[in-house]
Amino acid sequence: MSACTSCGACCACYRVEFPVYQMVFAGGTVPGDMAEEVNGNTWRMNGTGTVPIRCAALTGTVGEQVGCSICSLRPAPCHELVEGSEGCQRARTKRGLPALEGLQARPATL
Ligand code: SF4
Ligand code: SF4
Repeated sequence: MSACTSCGACCACYRVEFPVYQMVFAGGTVPGDMAEEVNGNTWRMNGTGTVPIRCAALTGTVGEQVGCSICSLRPAPCHELVEGSEGCQRARTKRGLPALEGLQARPATL
């Protein structure tokens, strides 16, 4: 079973930036009210540009029960961060959560 639904640390740790073509208005999936423009080519999930970081799409309480309100529409970086990877473990450590033991790295599923 995935640890992600009781974690969410990566969604409250990292700046989530992606190419403009992943925005709905440019033919992608990310809703316009969920992200802000960084520059002409790059957009960023709201809530991930300033500390304390917490993506605007994250629901619930980190370390307890969480979800992504745009799960099927989320940008590429969210698909690329792998549960059990170094980036995952680093995020968990930052949020005071224990490292995941004996886990085969796999895509995060919130
Ligand atoms: S990928 Fe790792 S840090 Fe992100 S929600 Fe899943 S277990 Fe938590
Ligand atoms: S879009 Fe969803 S998966 Fe991506 S950082 Fe935000 S809450 Fe997490």
